[in-house]
Amino acid sequence: MRNRLKALWIVRAALLLSVASATAAPQQRGQQAPQNASNTEFEILPIRNNVYMLAGDGGNIALSIGPDGVLMVDAGTLANSERLLATIQQLQRQLATNGLQSWNFAAETRSNLPRMISPPAPPKPIRYIINTSLDPDHSGGNEKLSQAGATITGGNVAGNIADAAQGASIIAHENVLLRMTNAQAPFRSLPTDTYHMDTMKLSHFFNGEGILILHQPSAHTDGDSLVYFRGSDVIAAGDIFRTDSYPVIDVERGGNIQGVIDGLNRILDLSIAEFRTEGGTMVIPGHGRLCDSADVAYYRDMVTIIRDRIQDMIKKGMTLQQIKAAKPTKDYDPRYGKNTGPWTTDMFVEAVYQSLIQKK
Ligand SMILES: [Zn+2]
Repeated sequence: MRNRLKALWIVRAALLLSVASATAAPQQRGQQAPQNASNTEFEILPIRNNVYMLAGDGGNIALSIGPDGVLMVDAGTLANSERLLATIQQLQRQLATNGLQSWNFAAETRSNLPRMISPPAPPKPIRYIINTSLDPDHSGGNEKLSQAGATITGGNVAGNIADAAQGASIIAHENVLLRMTNAQAPFRSLPTDTYHMDTMKLSHFFNGEGILILHQPSAHTDGDSLVYFRGSDVIAAGDIFRTDSYPVIDVERGGNIQGVIDGLNRILDLSIAEFRTEGGTMVIPGHGRLCDSADVAYYRDMVTIIRDRIQDMIKKGMTLQQIKAAKPTKDYDPRYGKNTGPWTTDMFVEAVYQSLIQKK
């Protein structure tokens, strides 16, 4: 997928420039805000048709932007939600004015004339936010972003339709709602629509395609969703898949190594490569760079090999301490291992161990 990425980089660079200048302005107005405050810029990567990937401080965000408005998979962190909203609105304005929509196959054949003789329409509202899990770096922006959806929808219908004040729908597996409610999350950040079965479909096309939400039981947590853009052939994987570390398995919140492997296999079942194992279905990981099915297969193999090694050690009667000392991840540590931070290699080994002894 290297050639394709090269082309995308050019567009991304152009977008980055304009979005950076737009989002930097409010910061400069703040009192003595340093030029490079802790918050990094959002990176925008057009993937296919109406689908974009946004990468910032929190988890990756998938966006569908088009005539029906905006659908987001995940909403970033609470701290960045203001800047995320500004970034999305700026991207919408950009798409409406400079014809970047030619990334859209349908729009490519459309004449540019209407854009030249009439001003662009105001940005369409955010309609849906889908949470891939309850993690605060994925659901932290829920309240801000969904309420902004209401602001834009409002206008001439506000006051007549009570629902208009509710903002964008927040969709998640019901375990996300249960756990967020138990943790006393703010009311307006809670999912408004939940599902409890294996899959949920949006009831209608959104920006020209069907969107399928798949529950992956007991993986990163017990409320994980994969989101599949069927027309654009893009999968937002949430934290079941990431390129920057070993998978985070939240055993306390129902996560399990086997569910992670099942989830990675499910992504591979849905994926079709363009040539050999390259290109084709694009996969947005919870954290890290845009991937294709070859990347997912490599990661699946790595996680499976480590599970088997630890399973073997358990069968030999080794204790957790002995397993950690034997370094079952050693050959993968240069790429995925971490000695510090929120998810160390030791924590991963322990989570795999806990998952495996739980199963019996
Ligand atoms: Zn995450």
